[in-house]
Amino acid sequence: MHQGEGYGICRAVHAEMNALLNCSRQQTMGADLYLAGINPSDNSVHKAKPCPVCARQIIQAGIRNVYLRVGDGAENYIVIPANELKWLQD
Ligand SMILES: [Zn+2]
Repeated sequence: MHQGEGYGICRAVHAEMNALLNCSRQQTMGADLYLAGINPSDNSVHKAKPCPVCARQIIQAGIRNVYLRVGDGAENYIVIPANELKWLQD
């Protein structure tokens, strides 16, 4: 199975979804979400982006901006307004 497939049979919850599940609506409305993917085999930064399912939940939760880590260094992020996440599906 490829990454991003098989949600119906997967027991795992994506990190974005897990973060939102642990917040109240009051906490997510207008908040920013930071996403960083680290490859455990060599600690390199994997350019993670929300899958379509998480993107919908991020938008519905009222998140303002999503910060995607794109390289080494904690300041190395690109910022995407949550309402533009639909364009990351391809
Ligand atoms: Zn996801």
